[in-house]
Amino acid sequence: MNHVMEKPVRQLDLGLDWRNSFAGLGEAFYTELRPTPLPDPCLVAGNRALAGALGIAPELLFSGDGVEALTGNRPIGGTRPLASVYSGHQFGVWAGQLGDGRAILLGEADTASGPQEFQLKGSGLTPYSRMGDGRAVLRSSIREFLGSEAMHALGIPTTRALCVTGSPAPVRREEIETAAVVTRVAPSFIRFGHFEHFSARGQHAELTRLADHVIDRFYPSCRTTDKFAGNACAALLERVSERTAAMVAQWQAVGFCHGVMNTDNMSILGLTIDYGPFQFLDAFDPGHICNHSDEQGRYAFNRQPDVAYWNLFCLGQALLPLIGEEDLALAALASYKTVFPLELEARMSAKLGLGDALPGDRELIEGILQLLAADRVDYTIFWRRLSRHVAGEGREGVRDLFLQREAFDGWLLRYLERLGAAGRELAGNRMLATNPKYVLRNHLGELAIRDAKLKNSGAVEDLLALVQAPYNEHPAHDDKAGFPPDWASQIEISCSS
Ligand code: AMP
Ligand code: MG
Repeated sequence: MNHVMEKPVRQLDLGLDWRNSFAGLGEAFYTELRPTPLPDPCLVAGNRALAGALGIAPELLFSGDGVEALTGNRPIGGTRPLASVYSGHQFGVWAGQLGDGRAILLGEADTASGPQEFQLKGSGLTPYSRMGDGRAVLRSSIREFLGSEAMHALGIPTTRALCVTGSPAPVRREEIETAAVVTRVAPSFIRFGHFEHFSARGQHAELTRLADHVIDRFYPSCRTTDKFAGNACAALLERVSERTAAMVAQWQAVGFCHGVMNTDNMSILGLTIDYGPFQFLDAFDPGHICNHSDEQGRYAFNRQPDVAYWNLFCLGQALLPLIGEEDLALAALASYKTVFPLELEARMSAKLGLGDALPGDRELIEGILQLLAADRVDYTIFWRRLSRHVAGEGREGVRDLFLQREAFDGWLLRYLERLGAAGRELAGNRMLATNPKYVLRNHLGELAIRDAKLKNSGAVEDLLALVQAPYNEHPAHDDKAGFPPDWASQIEISCSS
């Protein structure tokens, strides 16, 4: 026997109660393994607000020991690290087995915000890394960190990000970059692809166990519904369809483009997950493609609602062995087609400050979107300036955004008539709390990344503070609410991260 003396590694105690329910699903679902350490880790940015919400002292979490632990160099007491296996459809094609190729689930803990899973992304090779190196580069890790927190502050369901740590370890992409790790937090990281995996392999016992786990923990009302003849899995499919519809409606309303809506990047909880080449729109271009690897434009901004349905259909197919009857699955999926348009109309009405729906509202919404698209008007600036006009400012600010001013004048007249004098007074402030002044535009992220590469880590946390309060004025940061510079349209972001 070969006795190797291992140096004892001091565990970090975060003071949380870990229960690791995903690990309880059994070995077919994962491989237990530890993160691979990285040399000389440092804190790039910490999310103190989230640490506080979870009930973890930031001084401990972002201390030297905390940074070691969140880089994967030191175990956290009570965790049971693992990489999970899933499959999925990528760009419309069945890709077979994928899995956590560079993410490690540390476990699930009781926190001040309820049970939450903690995951390190970029933490080394796993059995599911395929051709990848198990790493994430600093650039994409900062984008995920800021992107998910910006979405959360906008009220959009998403995984959260607790911190980014960096290391000088080189990582090869188009050029040599450096490694980083994002700590992600969510009630669950289960994806549509987890269901597709066991269904495609005919592993029905595992498929059943997975569905039971998700229903019992996150959708318990599916067990007691009268709908679908009491079929809990059909009810689950309906609930996931509704949550996905509500999430995508929010994406469309705020101008968020995900970029890689593969079924393995779709959360069973209806959370925005796996921030890669995502983008908040600058100019309103409905056909905008933010992912440079997406040559066909499958994931263009205006295709997202249909793609979400396509992905739900894959989930429905995966659940079919449990649902039993195709008609029930189709009936469950049909909820997407009713909920999505209602949710979108509600979101767009809110952006316009409209109260209860009236006939003609849909024409107002479609009318302004057509004008915005025709003149490629900056989407965020338009909504903010319109809000300020409704709140009492002159109309020039918003009118100046259009080339076709007469067409805009006509729309504005109809819109202000619809609001009415009383409605207008109410609407202004509501609109300023609905239409953000700050979104995480690509060029803002890029500037923070440049600063972080120069070791000015404060830049990422400064931008975090801004996108965490996107409706506030922050007069000292007005420049970050302005038009993007010319070079912004040259930023190329692909799947390679
Ligand atoms: P994504 O498109 O980023 O969601 O990744 C698709 C699949 O590739 C997932 O299974 C990832 O875990 C895996 N993957 C992506 N990048 C890497 C990498 N650098 N190393 C290992 N696996 C990766
Ligand atoms: Mg992914």
